[in-house]
Amino acid sequence: MLMPEDRIPAHLTTTSPEGLLVMARGEDGWCTALDPLRMNCTIYDQRPDTCRRFVMDGTYCRAARKDYQQPQAALLP
Ligand code: SF4
Repeated sequence: MLMPEDRIPAHLTTTSPEGLLVMARGEDGWCTALDPLRMNCTIYDQRPDTCRRFVMDGTYCRAARKDYQQPQAALLP
């Protein structure tokens, strides 16, 4: 979710069904600001406040990684 003070290029944002301004997602489900080859943020210096507060390897980060990995694990024989 974006805050009024965030300065994100409009083509990278969208409005959620709840009416909130958020980062848009590509067809792959990733944030449109993500470089999928390098897996890094292409607007790092101007990334949203929410992203700045995200604690790498924190509780939420680990939970998100676990959620992301589960569908892939299900594909393994
Ligand atoms: S850090 Fe960058 S790529 Fe990651 S969610 Fe935020 S804006 Fe998107």
